[in-house]
Amino acid sequence: MRKPFIAGNWKMFKNMAQAAAFAEEFKKVYSPSDVKVAFCAPYTQLETLVKAFAGTGIGVGAQNMHFEEQGAFTGEISAEMLTEIGVDYVIIGHSERRQYFGETDETVNKKLHKAFEHDLLPIFCVGENLEERESGKAFAVVEEQVKKGLVGLSAEQIEKLTVAYEPVWAIGTGKTATSEQADEMCGFIRKTVAGIYGEETAENLVIQYGGSVKPSNVTELMNMYEIDGALVGGASLKAEDFIQIVNF
Ligand code: PGA
Repeated sequence: MRKPFIAGNWKMFKNMAQAAAFAEEFKKVYSPSDVKVAFCAPYTQLETLVKAFAGTGIGVGAQNMHFEEQGAFTGEISAEMLTEIGVDYVIIGHSERRQYFGETDETVNKKLHKAFEHDLLPIFCVGENLEERESGKAFAVVEEQVKKGLVGLSAEQIEKLTVAYEPVWAIGTGKTATSEQADEMCGFIRKTVAGIYGEETAENLVIQYGGSVKPSNVTELMNMYEIDGALVGGASLKAEDFIQIVNF
């Protein structure tokens, strides 16, 4: 059985005081259930969240990291620097990083390897843009992202991986993919993973949908067979919205 996994992606929002206030508010309304929950926050807020959520079962994630162990990479952060402060998860290959910061399938692949080396649990993002969707290339694009991103990873590592399918045209636009579109692509991702790692590994893989997930559409999305969770941007910024999503 795949355990539902709802993760918030705060992007470049919330300073330290706001993050701390959010954590207190969220803890008041949250009660542990079978749904896994995590917040992926800006680097400077990670330690605050790790401390605030200690003992609650709520995970904390970064939104990126470098693929090298250490070195002259001004402005970057390493996997070890994240685990040292108790971070559990890391988003790898978010479309905003691919689009604005030159992330490629090759760097994504190196980052996935490095994350596993340090026991960080990656949330690996894939998804097509609007033009690719409209020209009928969505499946080919996502297949390539999945195959290139996973090169050299073991089946054992795939068991710890979360994949997030995030169609770029649905992120922050208010335009959600229909639950059928999202389910279809998540199923296709699972099939692609089955082709590399076998049915059993693919069947256990947790696949999130991301792109304008909100309290009003989460139930329908989560009711789809292939969708096991959500990566939530905008609607993760308010505790009252996010708790409704977690309690879908
Ligand atoms: P959104 O962002 O929920 O604001 O569309 C999702 C994401 O980018 O992870």
